[in-house]
Amino acid sequence: MKNITVIGSGTMGNGIAHVFAQYGYSVTMNDIQQEFLVRGLKTISGNLDRQIKKGTITEEQKASTLAHITTTLNLAEAVRSADLVIEAATENKEIKLNIFKTIDANAPVGAVLASNTSSISITEIAAVTKRPQQVIGMHFMNPVPMMKLVEVIRGLATSHETFTKVKELAEAIEKTPVEVNDYPGFVSNRVLLPMLNEAMYCVMEGVATPEAIDTVMKLGMNHPMGPLTLADFIGLDVCLSIMNVLHEGLGDTKYRPCPLLKKMVAAGHLGRKSGKGFYDYSQQK
Ligand code: NAD
Repeated sequence: MKNITVIGSGTMGNGIAHVFAQYGYSVTMNDIQQEFLVRGLKTISGNLDRQIKKGTITEEQKASTLAHITTTLNLAEAVRSADLVIEAATENKEIKLNIFKTIDANAPVGAVLASNTSSISITEIAAVTKRPQQVIGMHFMNPVPMMKLVEVIRGLATSHETFTKVKELAEAIEKTPVEVNDYPGFVSNRVLLPMLNEAMYCVMEGVATPEAIDTVMKLGMNHPMGPLTLADFIGLDVCLSIMNVLHEGLGDTKYRPCPLLKKMVAAGHLGRKSGKGFYDYSQQK
């Protein structure tokens, strides 16, 4: 696999493009507006500068990484010579299904089609293509250049060959692939989000303050970040939508979203990005 196409140049898309380009792959990045592509490239350049400052790469490596990335607004063109397409567009089922129909119709027959979705069924995405055996989940973590994990999610029809290709590719960019089957929330969100949700119940029931809960989990369990700080960082709207996916997909009341979470999202308190969540960020830049 040499040619990688990344659909979406937002938080995850530009991170995925950055890493593949840094390891010498030819990367094509696609989005729906030129300004989004420009912003994506700017973010990559800024993150490469940070790596230079840390001494992990040189100026030449930065130039070479950027030279490995081309951009286009034309989705069909973007995938025309791809060996692997990684879709990292907005988390919306209709958008993703439309993208997969287009890329299936335009990518080479042998190309593997992957999605970086956090919560949409890989099996359902695969079903809109004529090559479900070549569709797979590649769930990178944020920030992509820093985080080692890639959950590799097998849809019901994903072939062993596709899985092996993607696993080896993840290893080639020095990530650690972990094999997971396609169930709601995969492993990462199925284990993490109920913990964050439970921390919110503790706030709602007055068990302790957000600061106290975060301190218990940091100092007592050695977590680098408390659950409520993390929830604010992820975005409370994203947390709610993942809890809804778990609740609807698994049908167990243990996944019901905390009423306080629902109320905060309804009020527009979305965490860091809105300036207010379990903590107040209004004084920060
Ligand atoms: P984002 O909003 O930062 O970026 C999404 C990008 O997709 C935007 O630039 C948008 O313009 C583009 N886009 C929308 N429709 C498109 C289309 N039809 N064709 C091409 N591009 C299109 O979102 P993100 O946080 O980067 O999330 C992308 C995906 O990664 C989602 O599926 C999300 O669930 C998943 N994910 C996110 C995180 C995270 O922490 N942010 C972690 C793991 C996985």
